Amino acid sequence: MQEQAFFNEGERVGVLTTQPLDRVLDYRAPEGGCHLGAYVEVPLGPRRVLGVIWGPGAGDFDSAKLRPVNRVLDVAPMRDEMRQFLSKSADYTLTPLPAMLRLATRAPGLSDPVSMRKVLRLGSGLPDRMTDARTRVLAAVEEFGGLAFTAKELADLAGVTSSVVKGLVKQGALREEEAPRDLPYPRLDPDLPGKTLTEDQAAAANTLGEAVAGGRYGTTLLKGVTGSGKTEVYLEAVAATLRAGRQALVLLPEIALTAEFLKRVEQRFGATPAEWHSGATMTERRRVWRMVGQGKAQLVIGARSALFLPYQNLGLIIVDEEHDTSYKQDEGVCYNARDMAVLRAAMCSAQVVLASATPSLETWANAEAGKYKRLNLAARFGSAVLPEMRAIDMRAEKLPASTWISPTLKQAMTARIERGEQSLLFLNRRGFAPVTICRACGGHVTCDHCDSRMVEHRFMKRLMCHQCGETKPVPDACPTCQVEGKMAPVGPGIERLGEETAALFPEARIAVLSSDLFASARALKQRIEEIAAGEADIILGTQLVAKGHNFPLLTLVGVIDADLGLQGSDLRAAERTFQLMRQVAGRAGRADKPGEALMQTFQPEHPVIRAILSGDEEAFWRAEAAERQAAGVPPYGRMAGIVLSGPELPAVMDLGMALARNDGPLRQIGAQVFGPAPAPIARIRGRHRVRLLIKASKGTPLQDAIARWIKPARLKGDLRLSVDIDPQNFF
Ligand code: ADP
Ligand code: ZN
Repeated sequence: MQEQAFFNEGERVGVLTTQPLDRVLDYRAPEGGCHLGAYVEVPLGPRRVLGVIWGPGAGDFDSAKLRPVNRVLDVAPMRDEMRQFLSKSADYTLTPLPAMLRLATRAPGLSDPVSMRKVLRLGSGLPDRMTDARTRVLAAVEEFGGLAFTAKELADLAGVTSSVVKGLVKQGALREEEAPRDLPYPRLDPDLPGKTLTEDQAAAANTLGEAVAGGRYGTTLLKGVTGSGKTEVYLEAVAATLRAGRQALVLLPEIALTAEFLKRVEQRFGATPAEWHSGATMTERRRVWRMVGQGKAQLVIGARSALFLPYQNLGLIIVDEEHDTSYKQDEGVCYNARDMAVLRAAMCSAQVVLASATPSLETWANAEAGKYKRLNLAARFGSAVLPEMRAIDMRAEKLPASTWISPTLKQAMTARIERGEQSLLFLNRRGFAPVTICRACGGHVTCDHCDSRMVEHRFMKRLMCHQCGETKPVPDACPTCQVEGKMAPVGPGIERLGEETAALFPEARIAVLSSDLFASARALKQRIEEIAAGEADIILGTQLVAKGHNFPLLTLVGVIDADLGLQGSDLRAAERTFQLMRQVAGRAGRADKPGEALMQTFQPEHPVIRAILSGDEEAFWRAEAAERQAAGVPPYGRMAGIVLSGPELPAVMDLGMALARNDGPLRQIGAQVFGPAPAPIARIRGRHRVRLLIKASKGTPLQDAIARWIKPARLKGDLRLSVDIDPQNFF
């Protein structure tokens, strides 16, 4: 354990609590004193709240009124590096520290005393006779040497009924004892034989292994097509970390956290790792939090918030599917787990591996600039081959008005249905969400602030700019040619496509996968599993479907509008289109059946379309990087979103206007403010939302300027202001 400063009883200490106060509060160290970083319970008004000893007291509070810390909690103190990590991520995301601390203490029962439960250990007695089942139980106990299990865990582990275990207890072969409820995780064995790696894979695994053994900070982009063995490779980096006696964390998009994945990890290391995600039970979360803090969980597999667990000695963070937008939390504390992983690793001399078939432009650019190392896995492992990718030239297809499935695509789908295989139609547009174009001149409505094309949103009955959130009503007359009555919505949304598909294939089972159609990640995950098991003939999906699911029966992917991402209505549209198409195409033909990916496009000659079809990714990234650089947008410029909310729209708007007027601190750094405009989702749970967008050039102290800018803002009554640095989502 690291040497922590110690405060003697009665000494003045500063305590950061989880309560929304804007400062650290002074208390007296409790009887017996306490360490810097200790988790404590302190009195606050009539209540007792959770806090952490953050440093010496500030001394500006009347010492006669100083109250003592109630007690020190029975958990490992927070390490210096964790305090620094919380401070730095609070500064970066402009989040108040107490909110960061809440994120880091999101485990139930932290202040409970350590509770006990009955566990079993090897006893001195001998069973009267050995059965197969009994042998298995005793072998399991021996295998995990020092560990103890409850009767149920032991029965599960040995694959016997609990009566077998009870019998052994009665005969004294096992003895019962009291043990703390939160048991350490079984030891993982990095030296169990892994799969025999291909030459490519082995080279990548060695490089990562050496980096881990070096014990310093570093970030590596591990790039390889779906199925190339990225997981096999990074599991070897995990093995190297365990051998070095350090902890490892594998972050996955929540939806990819499956039993299948855990089984794979278990096969490699001989025991189950700790699991951290929204579906884990309270008991499990509590156990993970405590054991991670004591260094008794060597490996955590988790969703983004696992980054805020109190690791004792974190040596490696894997961010799988690093391009996945779900790493960005855009409610509450707005942070990007991928970026915060890099920050955290830098603070504790750990390695980061960003794994993806289609990295984000940010990561690609960092690798190009030499900030990250880069490893490539070229081929798909084994027989699975990338699907054949072809463009359907829509200029040559004959479609009835307001339909989007070309005869060529329809024919390919019919063939799949006849063979009992699945097709997936991909359209990255939720709702009906068409574009509005003038039928007289072909002109469209552009945003006054951004010059980007505005998109019709049915639920709002307005046009919206996906760049800055500006909205306006659909105009009567075309803003370009002034002809009236010709503005018409064109283009499909996923739900509209559903209607068309049902009309074309009345007998087919159609599944629509769009995030706004599911109540929870769990419900969606379940639906995806059903579909993977064959409970649909045609799947219609938004970008959701591109995440690492495996649909073994899927052999056709049809991209409805490959041009969609090329219109520049969203900053990352082209990048997402590219990633999604490659990922979606990677869904086809994973098993033994070869896949086919068809992309409907009006511009088969467009560089992005050509890059996708030819597989020339570098060409795509270079072109996209050049465009972003020219536009001064991320990763070559900076952005931040401000969302204001409150129960009454006028008050929220007034605050927005006041901010926009008083933009001195932003102008000082050459940043621009757009808005206020109603947020795309203008009302959530009865609260009106208004947003502002800030654009600045790279290298400017954006956070500092924003902090100074919003500081004088008066949040009267129920008004709230939240900052989203590097927003991914403009909703
Ligand atoms: P990725 O993470 O790049 O999608 P995976 O690591 O999941 O790729 O590998 C895809 C499949 O191929 C998995 O079932 C994996 O077990 C298998 N595989 C990859 N490399 C090997 C190998 N060297 N030996 C045996 N199986 C392998
Ligand atoms: Zn705009």
